[in-house]
Amino acid sequence: MPDFDFLQLQLADPEIAQVTAEYQAIGAAWDSATTSQQRREAFDRWDALRRRLETWEAVVHLHFQQDTRNADYRRRREYCDALRPQLTDLAVGMKRKLMACPHRGELEARFGSHLFELWKADLLAFDPAIQDDLVREATLEAEYTELLAAAKLSFQGGTYNHSEIVKFREHLDRDTRQAAERVRWGWYAAEAPRLDRIYDDLVKLRDGMARKLGFRDFIGMGYQRMKRVDYTQADVERFRAAVRDEVVPLGLELRRRQASELGLDRLKYWDEALFDAQGNPAPQGDHDWMIQRAQTMFKGLGGGMGEFFQLLVDAHLIDLKSREGKAGGGFCTSFPTYGFPFIYANFNGTKGDVEVFTHEMGHALQAYLSREQPVSDYLFPTYESCEIHSMGLEFLTWPWMDQFFGPDAERFRRIHLLQALLFLPYGVSVDHFQHLVYANPGATPQERHEMWREMERTYLPWREYGDLPHVSQGGFWQFQRHIYLSPFYYIDYTLAQTCALQLWSRAEKDRPATFAAFLALCRRGGEAPFQELAKSAGLVSPFEPNCLGDVVRQARITLGV
Ligand code: ZN
Repeated sequence: MPDFDFLQLQLADPEIAQVTAEYQAIGAAWDSATTSQQRREAFDRWDALRRRLETWEAVVHLHFQQDTRNADYRRRREYCDALRPQLTDLAVGMKRKLMACPHRGELEARFGSHLFELWKADLLAFDPAIQDDLVREATLEAEYTELLAAAKLSFQGGTYNHSEIVKFREHLDRDTRQAAERVRWGWYAAEAPRLDRIYDDLVKLRDGMARKLGFRDFIGMGYQRMKRVDYTQADVERFRAAVRDEVVPLGLELRRRQASELGLDRLKYWDEALFDAQGNPAPQGDHDWMIQRAQTMFKGLGGGMGEFFQLLVDAHLIDLKSREGKAGGGFCTSFPTYGFPFIYANFNGTKGDVEVFTHEMGHALQAYLSREQPVSDYLFPTYESCEIHSMGLEFLTWPWMDQFFGPDAERFRRIHLLQALLFLPYGVSVDHFQHLVYANPGATPQERHEMWREMERTYLPWREYGDLPHVSQGGFWQFQRHIYLSPFYYIDYTLAQTCALQLWSRAEKDRPATFAAFLALCRRGGEAPFQELAKSAGLVSPFEPNCLGDVVRQARITLGV
């Protein structure tokens, strides 16, 4: 049993005056140090402070998402959001100082040069001149989160939130599927003015910040915020084109086959999530049963996963049930001071529960395995690498899917592979859309909906919304929280999926070696940039010309298309 218990965790809110004083003391200690050992101590003191503040921020944001109606949680989140730019200012100041320091070589010898690449990106993406804008940005983001979390959708005599109602997308009865989608998108249609206004404010605000920092538009700033140090906008553009050329035609074939398997003339949007005339496999038990099954799975996987999962359960580091007022989505956050991650999800009884769970466990495992990284910048890699851990584990747990789906496990695996492939065109459409949006910050909400329709024609040519409200007018993107909350965080999933699919095909040939390479990748945390991490795990970078084509060929063989 760990001593740590999340339910007992109480962290005082830091005061800016006290944090500033601590920064000054650390800076003075660095300046007055006469030996490398003294500088090392000053640096480590700073790193411990950063871990403490990151832990506090993670807890505050997590509490708010667990109950968006709790007034105290909301107040603390607002306090945290207001403080954050000031903390960033202090951190950036220290980074600037260390980068210009004659003893910088000592840090390079200890941590490598990647640290300085990351800091350079941090410096480019921040200036005290945008502090107020950052607070305003966080406020708008929270408004979006709260708006969605507050939704109460009435359907067939029940009331659902957004996380819950999507389960009807997999319902066997076609009329039920369509009716549920009508309710879901009817909500977006009713909230459209507010959703448009929040995004319009965000786009203009972000564009303004970028200009204050000397960028032409927010795209450049967005890339720096994502710390993309080893690939460019042009690389991403080539990757999107490869998805369009290699995967979209396959997607059309898969969707056609799906329609015929469902006995339908044409596949409508409300049919897309149902892959099998027998109904999608669903986990054969409730939340507690799933936890038990997961225990068996993680023990079976080896590599210390069984003990790790038990630790998460015992320390109350998981929250998987959906409930009123809880914000949607699934994610993993972590508390660097303690070295523990936390898994958050919204179970709704579909196969997605198993997927989200294994996905977030991948993140959690990485956070745990790399917790001893010597500097907090290396605790996590950039997101496209993070998502290899999560999407990779989704595939590496395949042999244990019988635990959850019994005789339907094989069907589950086939659908998982199909969805992984079909995800790529959607993922790049979200990315491409944001490039259009931020290149044209003066566009009207109506024009943005047009941009999205163009994306659907390019990457999702099979999509037919019929007369569903809102989405038939180009409003689908408004459900995608990343577009509001984490600009340019989406291509990451497609890059990672391309890597995860490689892990899948390698594991089919040599499971133990592939899992060992995966664990080694997790342990590396963020000590290197994306392509270097991928290469070290024996993965081909998605930016290599033939990478995607090879992955698609392999999948076609397995799927028989
Ligand atoms: Zn993830």
